[in-house]
Amino acid sequence: MQEQIDQVVSVLQEALRDYSSVCFANSLGAEDMVLTDIIAKNQLNIAMFSLDTGRLPQPTYDLMQQLNDRYSVPLKVYFPDNSSVERYVEQHGINGFYDSIDARKGCCFVRKVEPLRRALRGNKAWVTGLRRDQAVTRGGLEISSHDADFGMQKFNPLLEWSNKDVWAYIRKYDVPYNKLHDQFYPSLGCAPCTRSISLGEDIRAGRWWWENPEDKECGLHVAKPMLLKRA
Ligand code: SF4
Repeated sequence: MQEQIDQVVSVLQEALRDYSSVCFANSLGAEDMVLTDIIAKNQLNIAMFSLDTGRLPQPTYDLMQQLNDRYSVPLKVYFPDNSSVERYVEQHGINGFYDSIDARKGCCFVRKVEPLRRALRGNKAWVTGLRRDQAVTRGGLEISSHDADFGMQKFNPLLEWSNKDVWAYIRKYDVPYNKLHDQFYPSLGCAPCTRSISLGEDIRAGRWWWENPEDKECGLHVAKPMLLKRA
């Protein structure tokens, strides 16, 4: 495991060396708690933020608090623009995201994508905890690639880690994690759009479970990756 950790640290150090401001979009999922621990232990100068959509489950807020209590790296929380949420609810209803894929993506845009744009503004690169085997939509990702949607470099240092690797790290270093993971919620998002899964189901089967796997992204990680050569 030490070799895998060293590789992650080296990707993060490379990001800091090549880009003047690097931030970490912390979704508070298991992978992102591993990254939080690695960033904090190695005192890497990476700003950490999270998005509060206003529809998160209570255990996610509990974890946010635990993270603040345990680590000295501050977690900045971004919220959706209130007038955009009000407009969305006026047009679609409070649970309008169940009505169609467009309505669901509209909700994700207002509650996630727009706040993410604000959070990324002014940064040259961002870090995520995406892993290749999490979803069919993530098979073509690279450890470092240009994110055309947000006009910046994107680093996925845990890309080749397995779910087992992530949990081995969490157990070994006693990293705090979302207690919903113990109740068959391997992938977490907003409360109304996440359900627990059964044995044998895909780990993202509980996210937007009423949609096809190829539609299951919220707009935060949609771009087809394009490798850039560095100058
Ligand atoms: S996951 Fe569901 S509640 Fe959360 S922003 Fe997307 S559609 Fe809205």
